[in-house]
Amino acid sequence: MAAATVEPAPDAVLLPPGIAGAIRAAAEAAWPEEACGLLAGRRDGAPLRVTRAVPCANLAADRRRAFEIDPQAWLDLRAALARETEAGGGGQDIVGCWHSHPDGRAGPSPRDLAAAWEPGFLWLVVAVTGGRAAAPTAHLFEAEGPGLAQRRFRRLAVKDG
Ligand SMILES: [Zn+2]
Repeated sequence: MAAATVEPAPDAVLLPPGIAGAIRAAAEAAWPEEACGLLAGRRDGAPLRVTRAVPCANLAADRRRAFEIDPQAWLDLRAALARETEAGGGGQDIVGCWHSHPDGRAGPSPRDLAAAWEPGFLWLVVAVTGGRAAAPTAHLFEAEGPGLAQRRFRRLAVKDG
């Protein structure tokens, strides 16, 4: 009997410098409000590889302190990736999201932890201080149960992909 294959949990994420730069630019343009978007990538094989960052409208009522990705953006990106898979350029999926912290810290906030819901989802966070964006930091959401105490973000190293 074949042993079940267990995907190794990624301890790093591959982020092409061009994508990191685009995220930083969008974060600076939105400052002092939060910018946000989705990440497409490949989960097959470790480490996780980000292949695309899509900026999305921030629908939060208080955009200086929060972000809320337009649900239509999820649908649009999912449909686009499915079309690419059918066309033979597949293997990509929505693997995470990114957002900025205007004059905040370069890691997920308690609000982010409360909002996270999909285990294995990648969160990139960009601190923007005085209008200048730092390098994105990467955090993998993990949950052993629904309780807040059972949820955490695991910091991942960001490598040029
Ligand atoms: Zn946040």
